[in-house]
Amino acid sequence: MNSKKVAFYTLGCKLNFSETSTIARSFKDEGFQRVDFKDNADIYVINTCSVTENADKRFKSIVKQAQKVNPDAFVAAIGCYAQLKPEELADVNGVDLVLGATEKFKITDYLNDLTKNDFGEVHSCEIEEADFYVGSYSIGDRTRAFLKVQDGCDYKCTYCTIPLARGISRSDTMENVIKNAKEIAEQDIREIVLTGVNIGDYGKGEFGNKKHEHTFLDLVTELDKVEGIERLRISSIEPNLLKNETIDLVSKSRAFVPHFHVPLQSGSNDILKKMKRRYMKELYVDRVFKIKEVMPHACIGVDVIVGFPGETDEHFLETYNFLNELDISYLHVFTYSERDNTEAAEMEGVVYKNVRAKRSKMLRGLSAKKRRAFYENQLGTERTVLFEGENKEGYIHGFTENYVKVKTPWNPELINTLHKVNLTKIDEDGLVRFDFVKALVS
Ligand code: SF4
Repeated sequence: MNSKKVAFYTLGCKLNFSETSTIARSFKDEGFQRVDFKDNADIYVINTCSVTENADKRFKSIVKQAQKVNPDAFVAAIGCYAQLKPEELADVNGVDLVLGATEKFKITDYLNDLTKNDFGEVHSCEIEEADFYVGSYSIGDRTRAFLKVQDGCDYKCTYCTIPLARGISRSDTMENVIKNAKEIAEQDIREIVLTGVNIGDYGKGEFGNKKHEHTFLDLVTELDKVEGIERLRISSIEPNLLKNETIDLVSKSRAFVPHFHVPLQSGSNDILKKMKRRYMKELYVDRVFKIKEVMPHACIGVDVIVGFPGETDEHFLETYNFLNELDISYLHVFTYSERDNTEAAEMEGVVYKNVRAKRSKMLRGLSAKKRRAFYENQLGTERTVLFEGENKEGYIHGFTENYVKVKTPWNPELINTLHKVNLTKIDEDGLVRFDFVKALVS
């Protein structure tokens, strides 16, 4: 019996969270005991992200945090940043092991000898070798489960390093996704969030080849039938891959909730072309109209990048006005930053950092305005809330099916329950108060 303790830290997206969970389960199978990252552990595993702002600084401070608790602990780095910059991570003081995209799921094989090294040992691969699929889902960390259905991306957006960090687009088999969803349902989890890099591309590489055996529509159709899952949420989906049929299915669905997160990146067609996105802004408008036509109460989140090379004041204003007029609910604003080995990093028309910051601030202001307007629109309506597990300053929070964030005084009995509520007012902190109507699932 292994009595060693292991702790995990995840940076980045839901996909990383789902993979950390799967890796943590493999440690459990080997007899390791999982502890919190702030507790004393023998091994600290950091699942890194290449998109994180100041990724190197963040990584160093997390390593330091681990070393402060146990200076003799073994520290391993995995994930996207570990694939892209293995040597850089290996050089960080205290790091013992760096595993690339093909090795991360075999991490326990590398831990027979936990002697600390003077420098990090790197086991990386060419990203072309990352052509196999490892299914993952997260459970137990949150009231929602993140279910990975797809990995990698074949698109070539000029600012993005994800294809370099995660490889080609490939999917889990439908059979396996359904099996995982049923396993999650058995664990008393109420909501599943589908995750992947480009989930609308689901089906590609499903049987290890490039042929689509199933489509994303097939996947959502089958998942909707899995009993025991109250809610299913499509996380982020490319606008060109969000088909009318999928929107119609969600509108009539048993479990899929009316919430879409659709990356736009820019409201200027000139910039979209430079980014090598696969749509023009007119298609985006069409998608928003279609969603709102069949689900007027749907929540629509938008990713947008400011300060892309060549983005003039006019381009930015075009984006601002485009979003201002569009019936969307909130924005995730990313400030463009140069990434090594991307086309955009070589482009002319670099936008000054202070201009990027100013544009980002303006869009964050617009996002707050949009969210407020969306919430106001929802007042007086009856919605279903799933309550989460954290006590934040005496309040428990939850989300409605259409992603309105609500709060009520802390009551642990509400954790992981579903209630029908009537949304009544918006508090000073921007969250929504409500009256209970009835308990649905407790
Ligand atoms: S769709 Fe574009 S931005 Fe998204 S992962 Fe693929 S290359 Fe990156």
